[in-house]
Amino acid sequence: AYVIGLPCVDVLDRACVDECPVDCIYEGERALYIHPDECVDCGACEPVCPVEAIYYEDDLPEALQAHLDDNARFFAEP
Ligand code: SF4
Repeated sequence: AYVIGLPCVDVLDRACVDECPVDCIYEGERALYIHPDECVDCGACEPVCPVEAIYYEDDLPEALQAHLDDNARFFAEP
């Protein structure tokens, strides 16, 4: 799946939301989150992000990983 990294925090541009064909990008309080099971890996969201926060999960640079725990928590079962 694709994943949204740290640069999204407090930016929430939402350009990616309009591109996603399966509507799997959800809005949190401070950032957007891609649902890892709903994402179909189309890559449409990646080039439209103005802060380059979106990467394929295996390609996410270490420097941008700070947001990943948040991502997991966002989709964790209550
Ligand atoms: Fe949506 Fe495609 Fe981006 Fe996955 S890669 S979040 S399916 S636009």
